[in-house]
Amino acid sequence: MTVRQTLEAIRQGRIGVVEVVRECLERIRRWDGVLGAFLSVETETALKRAEQLDNLPQDERGVLFGLPLAVKDNILVKGQTATAGSRILENFTAPYDATVVKRLLSAGAVVVGKTNLDEFGMGSSCEHSAFFVTRNPWDTERVPGGSSGGSAAAVAARLVPAALGSDTGGSVRQPASFCGVTAHRPTYGLVSRYGLIAFASSLDAIGPIAQTAEDCLLLLSVMAGGDANDATTAPHKVDLRRKPFQRWRIGVVRNALEAADSAVAEAVEETARVFQKNGCVLKDVDAGALEDALAAYHIIATAEASANLARYSGVHFAQRQDEGELALQTIRKTRALFGTEVKRRILLGTYVLSAGYYDAYYLRAVAHRRALRAKFLSILRDVDMLLLPTSPSVAFRFGERLKDPLKMYAADVMTVGVSLAGLPAVSFPCGFVEGLPVGAQLVGRPFEDALVLSAAARWFQQETDYHKMVPAAVSYTHLRAHETRHDLVCRLLLE
Ligand code: GLN
Repeated sequence: MTVRQTLEAIRQGRIGVVEVVRECLERIRRWDGVLGAFLSVETETALKRAEQLDNLPQDERGVLFGLPLAVKDNILVKGQTATAGSRILENFTAPYDATVVKRLLSAGAVVVGKTNLDEFGMGSSCEHSAFFVTRNPWDTERVPGGSSGGSAAAVAARLVPAALGSDTGGSVRQPASFCGVTAHRPTYGLVSRYGLIAFASSLDAIGPIAQTAEDCLLLLSVMAGGDANDATTAPHKVDLRRKPFQRWRIGVVRNALEAADSAVAEAVEETARVFQKNGCVLKDVDAGALEDALAAYHIIATAEASANLARYSGVHFAQRQDEGELALQTIRKTRALFGTEVKRRILLGTYVLSAGYYDAYYLRAVAHRRALRAKFLSILRDVDMLLLPTSPSVAFRFGERLKDPLKMYAADVMTVGVSLAGLPAVSFPCGFVEGLPVGAQLVGRPFEDALVLSAAARWFQQETDYHKMVPAAVSYTHLRAHETRHDLVCRLLLE
């Protein structure tokens, strides 16, 4: 069920919260051995909370009453582990709830577990998790995307109706596109980052992942809003109600379509036609060199990451000896606990910030970022939204890009520009290429999150069925008599 269907069923008394949560936990138990979407599952805590919710009087029930939710493991849930996919935080228990988690809980959500990710959010395939890979439910030989691959796979496999992810350069949108689900990256400053383990603070954003854009909007309306604990949140009230129809002008980003695989481009062209058929006006636009955005992103993101991750150098103390020896041992220990990609980024980030290179790399990247935002905003004066693919390709195979970081980074070439500009963007399923989902992206003006989400919901998802498609391995119709779904996954894997 979608978020809305789940909430409706509970509201009408057709199903209790305990039953809903039990069903999710049962699905996770059966399926997740194969998928690897979850790093930890909170069976007892979730069931206990579900019971308490079932006993709550009607008038105290929030808008997300009884909704089971998966949370990416770099977002803090009090009393639960938060590893950020890293060995260095393997034994870290969150001392408080992230602001978004607090808001979702007080609206009635139930956290069922924490999902897998690339270490500290650095990656596009979940292969950089220090623990295990997550598999794509559409093809278990392929990656689910990253870094929020666990959350996207969990929603795609229908283990939970919704999940939280974080998006620095594309990490909710790209995995959503690879897994055939919908995800939203909010305008920078709309959603509090308090309780999100930092990667690159000027880019990090927490976003919802669900089956539909309508569900994402509902979750966003609970998550959004100023927060005294995050000075970068916007204090003003943002209208997050559904937007009524107008003849919206949609800018089709030509140069992005040209840079994508032809089958992906075709699916997005077809998406544009659906919007047009529903009364929107199309216009071709050019958003500037995508590779430049990718370069600027990797300079700024690594620079900020190198500063943010410096705090871990003191986390694991070596045996006390003399000061110099102690420092050395601490460094060795830290080095052993960070993965290759994290170390690569710390080195790169330290390099671009060092004297002599700061002007050549960091300052130029910052200038490019400013120019890029100005360019996006000027295009968005002529059109209301931009349409482009979420990723240039569909999900790739395990190992395909692991040895070549630049190839891996290229998976985000369509998403990083939007992150640099701080704009809102939704990724939604818009077609299939050889049985694998394709994602399209709608990008809006700052704080017009409700507009892009309403557009995807009303003028695309209401007219099409891509978001309703379920991976074959998950669909009951592929079951042989007396076979459980777990048997099915095993059979498919063996075949
Ligand atoms: N894949 C991109 C990166 O490796 C984006 C990651 C993210 O958004 N957290 O930086």
